[in-house]
Amino acid sequence: MTWFSWQVPPFVTGVFFILGVITLYWASVNTLRIWSHERHWSISDANLEAWYGLAHMVVFVFSLQEIVVGATYSWEFMNFQLIALIFCGYFLNIRVPYYFLCPLLLAFMLFNRSLMSWESWAHAVTLVTMFVTLSVLYTKFHQYRGVFGLYLLVTIPLGGLLWFWMKLKYQFSWMTFRLEWLYYIVFVILLYLYVTMLSHDSELRQQLEWSANHDSLTTTQNFAAFTESLTYYVNKGRHHHQPLTMMMFDIDHFKQMNDTYGHSAGDQVLKQVVDVAQTVLDVNDSHVKLYRTGGEEFNVLFPNYDLATARPIVDQIFNAINHTPIRFGQQQLALSISVGVTAWSANDATARAFYERVDQHLYYSKQHGRMQITSD
Ligand code: GH3
Ligand code: MG
Ligand code: MG
Repeated sequence: MTWFSWQVPPFVTGVFFILGVITLYWASVNTLRIWSHERHWSISDANLEAWYGLAHMVVFVFSLQEIVVGATYSWEFMNFQLIALIFCGYFLNIRVPYYFLCPLLLAFMLFNRSLMSWESWAHAVTLVTMFVTLSVLYTKFHQYRGVFGLYLLVTIPLGGLLWFWMKLKYQFSWMTFRLEWLYYIVFVILLYLYVTMLSHDSELRQQLEWSANHDSLTTTQNFAAFTESLTYYVNKGRHHHQPLTMMMFDIDHFKQMNDTYGHSAGDQVLKQVVDVAQTVLDVNDSHVKLYRTGGEEFNVLFPNYDLATARPIVDQIFNAINHTPIRFGQQQLALSISVGVTAWSANDATARAFYERVDQHLYYSKQHGRMQITSD
């Protein structure tokens, strides 16, 4: 069998083409997400997916249209374009302001040489309506069971209207209109089922990734995330001569607290300590990260900070935790931490040497009365 004798109807090719475009998006966005995590980019996964998805679909729509632009059958790829729009509006749920969408549509009409046609304007208005309705539908109802019905209720009639404007403009037969609308309905259903399946898989993977890097009690990052970040920042600092400072702290006499008030009380204290430290970091710098590296031991990495610039934040964490009121029934307990702080030095042969120094500083604080900070 050769390509010439392989008679596949265009509709079937269309189905696999759409699935292929979505699969390509999914595979490439997953790679990009892993890349962005490895490089510690500050963009969120949701934003990365949305903007990359939009770029992917814009390239897809314009490059397809380029094949038929100006021809009397320039409506041929419209179903693909509608699928791209629904994908962006509903599944990516891109929160582009509508005044962003209008220039994009205008650019498309200009590119397609259809600015002078009233049917194309009616088509554009219908497209914006569909995009907006789908965005609202996703935002308000995507958790509900019956959302698939609502999705069809929006996409099917509006799709019919969009094909109707094109029928008026290009005057193709009612037969063609019905057939294209039918194909569109099949595509819309397939898109929903396929993307739902892929997202389910992707959500599961993201949950696993999150659990591998976070501590389930306090929800802060764990030791695995800490060692990964430490190696990353040490290597980066070495190559780009950027400073790096590390703080390590340990709750004082925590065992006693557990033994007296029980482990669940101890767990509450751990959560409270994380909340307090994280609040301090949130108001200072979101690039400074907290990790739970042991039972009641925590590390904070300060990328791009030397000892002097990190010190005010270290002091704030120290004071905030030491002043956190801890109540068990009628009793108020004193909570304190001991701290070690150190800066990365060119003499540190490995990340481990750096880590061991901060640990020694912490040990020094413990040995010399606790509730104090030891630094280089
Ligand atoms: P020091 O001031 O010398 O640090 O004394 P400490 O009692 O804080 O230190 P020690 O290493 O003797 O005890 C740490 C305790 O932390 C022992 C362990 O039961 C407790 N711990 C570790 N992880 C958890 C946890 O997830 N929840 C609770 N409740 N306790 C924990
Ligand atoms: Mg302790
Ligand atoms: Mg300890």
